[in-house]
Amino acid sequence: MNRLSDLTLLSLSGDLLLCLAVLTPESQFLAVLGQILAADGKVHIEDVPRSEWIALVKDAHVGYITWEDYERNEAQLDMNSQAYAPQRLSPPREGPALLQGLIICGRCGERMTVRYHQRGGQRIVPDYLCQSKSIAQGESPCQRIPGFDLDRVIGALLVERMTPEVLALTLAVQEELVSRAAEAQRLRHLQVERAQYEADLAQRRYLKVDPDNRLVASVLEAEWNTKLRELEEARAIEEQYTQSDQHRVSTQERAEIAEVPERFRQFWTDPKTSVRQRKRAVRFLIEDVTVHKTDQIVAHIRFKGGATQTITIALPPPFAQSRLTAPSTLAAMDRLLEEYTDAQVAEQLNRQGYRTFDGLLFESTHVYQLRRHHGLADRYARLRSQGMLTAEELAPSYGVAAQTIWRWYRQGRIVGARYNDRGSCLFLPKASQPLLTESH
Ligand SMILES: [Zn+2]
Repeated sequence: MNRLSDLTLLSLSGDLLLCLAVLTPESQFLAVLGQILAADGKVHIEDVPRSEWIALVKDAHVGYITWEDYERNEAQLDMNSQAYAPQRLSPPREGPALLQGLIICGRCGERMTVRYHQRGGQRIVPDYLCQSKSIAQGESPCQRIPGFDLDRVIGALLVERMTPEVLALTLAVQEELVSRAAEAQRLRHLQVERAQYEADLAQRRYLKVDPDNRLVASVLEAEWNTKLRELEEARAIEEQYTQSDQHRVSTQERAEIAEVPERFRQFWTDPKTSVRQRKRAVRFLIEDVTVHKTDQIVAHIRFKGGATQTITIALPPPFAQSRLTAPSTLAAMDRLLEEYTDAQVAEQLNRQGYRTFDGLLFESTHVYQLRRHHGLADRYARLRSQGMLTAEELAPSYGVAAQTIWRWYRQGRIVGARYNDRGSCLFLPKASQPLLTESH
C-alpha cells in the first residue's frame, strides 16, 4: 500500500500530515488519537464502529457465513436503521463555524444549524441555532448559542490535549497491533505447513495402492486432489495477508511523530490555515458536541472513541446591560427612532459615525436591545401615539377589506409608514390621507 497516497486524501497542513500519513492509512491515526486524547490513562474497552477500528484480521476463525455475506448483511441492516436514525453529519463547508454539523441541541437532541452574522462590519461570527421545531411547527427557535467563544475554547482544548504523552500512547497501541499481526501471520504459515503435510501424505497413500484395485485407487486419488486444493488455498491466503501487512513505525517516523504536538499547535495557530482544514481536523478528533445554554454555555464534547469532556463557557455580556453606551449615542438613537425602524436606525448611526460601546458597528439587534433596556419607545408605539392605524382599522372607513388598503399602499395611493424590518405598516387615518381620490 502506498502510504504517500494518503497525502492527497487529506488536506491538512503538509507537515502534520506527513507525520499522520506515515502511521496509518485512511487517516485512522487521528481517530485513534481522538480516542486517546480523551483517555484518562486507564484502558477502556468498548465497541466502536468499523470506521474507527484500527485493524481487521479476516478469517482468523472459521465463520458460519463468508465475510462477503457478513458485509452484505451489515450493509442491509445499516440501510434499514438509517430510516430510523438518519446520519446527518454535514460535510464541512466554507463558513468559519468550527462545529458545523457536529453540534447537537442539549434541550431537544436535534442537530443544530449555523447562522452567521457580521460583527464590527467585518468579522463573520457564527451562532448555532436549534430550529427544527421552529421550522416544523412555527415555534421560536429552541436554542441559540453564540459560537465565537465556543469555537475558540474547543480549538484551544484540542491543542492542549495533543501532548507527547498522548502520542507515546498512540505509538504503543500501534506496536501492539503490529505484534498481533505477526502472530496472525505465524498461524497462517502453520496452516500452510499442515496442508502441505496432508497433501504429501495423500500422495504417498495413492502411490502405494495396487493399481489393479481400481475402486480404492480412485478414492485415494480424489482425496489427494482435495488436499492439493486445500494447500493451494492456504498458500493464497498467506500470500494475500503478507502483502497487506501492518506497517511498523521506523525510527525516523517515530522522530517525526514526536513533533506532532508542536506541529499541530503551529497548524492550529497559523493564520494561513484555512477554515476548511481546521474543520476537517476537528472532525477527525470530535464525534459531536452537545450544548445547553443556561446562564452559561455547557458543552459536552464526545471525542472519537466515545470518551467525553464537559466544559463551560461564559456567555458574552448582554449587550443592553452594558452601561457603557454613551448618552449621546442613546440620544441620537432616540431621535432616529422617530423616523426609522431598528435596522434603519443602526444604519443611520453607523453612517453618522456612532459605534457600540466596544467600538463595533451597530446592528438592528443592538438597537432593539438598547431601546428595550433604556425604555425608549419603538417605532410602532411612536406611530400609534401619532394616531396611525392598522390596515384593519382603516379599512372600514373606506368600506373596503384590509387587503385593499395594502394594495392601495403598494400602488402609492395612500400614505403609510413601516414600523419594523419585516415590512409591517401603519397608515394615516382617512381624514389625513392626502392622495387617495374617491374614484377607486
Ligand atoms: Zn433544540
